[in-house]
Amino acid sequence: MSTTTSNARERVVIIGGGFAGLNMIKYLDKKKFDIVLVDRNNFHSFPPLFYQIASGGLDPGNISFPFRRELRRRKDGLGATFHMGDVHTIDTLYKEVHTQFESIEYDKLIIAAGTTNNFFGNPDLIKTVFTLKSAAEATRCRNEVIDRLERASLCTDDPERRRRLLSFVVVGGGPTGVEVAGAIGEMKRYIIKREYPGINPEDVQIALLEGTNRLLGGMSQESSENALKALKELMVDVHLGKLMNSYEDNVVTLNDGTKLYSEMVIWTAGVTGEKFMFSGIDYTQGRGNRFEVDEQNRVKGLDDVFAVGDIALMQTKDYPRGHPQMAQVAIQQARLLAKQLNQGTFDKKFDYVDKGSMATVGRNLAVVDLKHVHMKGWLAWMAWMFIHLISLLGMRNKLTVLINWTWSYFTYSTSLRILLHSTKYPLRKRWGEM
Ligand SMILES: Cc1cc2nc3c(=O)[nH]c(=O)nc-3n(C[C@H](O)[C@H](O)[C@H](O)COP(=O)(O)OP(=O)(O)OC[C@H]3O[C@@H](n4cnc5c(N)ncnc54)[C@H](O)[C@@H]3O)c2cc1C
Repeated sequence: MSTTTSNARERVVIIGGGFAGLNMIKYLDKKKFDIVLVDRNNFHSFPPLFYQIASGGLDPGNISFPFRRELRRRKDGLGATFHMGDVHTIDTLYKEVHTQFESIEYDKLIIAAGTTNNFFGNPDLIKTVFTLKSAAEATRCRNEVIDRLERASLCTDDPERRRRLLSFVVVGGGPTGVEVAGAIGEMKRYIIKREYPGINPEDVQIALLEGTNRLLGGMSQESSENALKALKELMVDVHLGKLMNSYEDNVVTLNDGTKLYSEMVIWTAGVTGEKFMFSGIDYTQGRGNRFEVDEQNRVKGLDDVFAVGDIALMQTKDYPRGHPQMAQVAIQQARLLAKQLNQGTFDKKFDYVDKGSMATVGRNLAVVDLKHVHMKGWLAWMAWMFIHLISLLGMRNKLTVLINWTWSYFTYSTSLRILLHSTKYPLRKRWGEM
C-alpha cells in the first residue's frame, strides 16, 4: 500500500511523535503543509516519568496521550494525520519512507525518532536486563519488580533464596538510574515493611553502578553529592567508577572483578539513535547513530531531510559533541525548524537556551540546577513536581498525576502495584501482521 502526496500542499512527513515531533506539528503552518506523523506507537508518552511506572507510582495511561486525540484536539491540528508504523527504510530517490504496513511519500522529511537503549557492543544484554526506554519497557520492569516481591514473600523457609530474589542492580548513575534506584529504595522503606510481612526489608539489596566517579554527570558537583547522600540514606549501595563487564547466570561482574548476585538488572546506562536503512543513496548515520545536521537541523548530504531532537547531532562551538539529549533541546530545535520551514528561509542558527536540569531521589528529595542557583530538598522536589506536571500533555493526565502524587504523599503508598502477566494467547503471531 502506498500513500502519495497531493499537489496542493507540500507534504511533510514526521517520523516520531515525541517532544520534537509534536512540537514540529504545533508550529508548522497547516495551510502551507500537509503533515503526516508516523510513529510505531499510537500515543505520545513522557519519558521523564517512566521510572514512576517501573516503581508502581503511576500507570502508563497517566503519562501517555493518544496521537489521534491530540491532533483532533488542537485547533491548529487539522491538516495533520497520523499513521501507525515502524519506519525501517528511507528512500531518498523516490522520496518515500517504508513501514511494515505501507510506503509514504514525502516532499520534506523530518526525522524525530529519538533514541533507543545502548548496550555498548553487547546486544545479548537485551535478553537478560530490563530497560526503561518506553512505557512498555517500564511496565514490564514494574511487573518484574512486583513479581520478585511476591515470590520472595513466599520463601519463608529459604532465607537465602529470598535475599537473592530481592537483589536489584541498577546500571547507570544518570537521572534515570538515580531515580529508579531511589524509587526502589523508597519501596523498601515504606511499602515492603507494611505490605509484605513475609519480607524483612533488610533483605532487599539495591546496588547502583556508575562508570565515572560521580552521579548525575551532567549536573553540578553539588547535585551529585546531594544525590549520593540521599541514596545512601535510602540504603542504596552506590558503586562509583565501576562498570558492569558481564551479566551471566544472575551474576553481575564488575570491571574490578567484584561479583554481585542480582535476579534483576535495570539498565539505564546509555542511548543510541534509532537505526534506519537507506535506499537510493549510500548513507550512514553518524556517531551514536545520530544524523549529522547543520545549525538549521538540515541533514548533511540528504536533500529535503531534517533531523531534530535526540537523533540530531549538531556540533557547534559550545557543543562540540552535540547537544545533550534532553527534552528542552528537542522542543527548541523543533520550534525553530518549523518556523524556518514556514518562512522557506534558513537564516537563523539554532542557539540552545539551557533552562536547567533536575532529578529526584525520593520523597521530599530532589536536586535542581538552574543557571546560577542550586536547590535541594523539599523546595527542589516541589519545583521538580511542578515542572513535570505542567509539561505533561492533557489536563486529565495532569490531574490524575497530581491526585496520585498527593495520595502517595499522605499515605506513604502507591496503589498501582498491579502485576500484569502477558497474555498466553497473542492474537497475532508476529507484530505487523494485518
Ligand atoms: C527514562 C528517561 C528519562 C528521561 N528524563 C528526562 C528528564 O528528566 N529531562 C529531560 O530533559 N529529558 C529526559 N529524558 C530525555 C528526553 O526524554 C529526550 O531527550 C526526549 O524525549 C527527546 O525527544 P525526541 O522527540 O527527540 O525523541 P522521543 O521523545 O524519544 O520520541 C521519539 C518518537 O519516535 C518514535 N519512533 C522511534 N523510532 C521510530 C521508527 N523507526 N518509526 C516510527 N516511530 C519511531 C517513538 O515511538 C517516539 O514516539 C529522559 C529519557 C528517558 C528514556
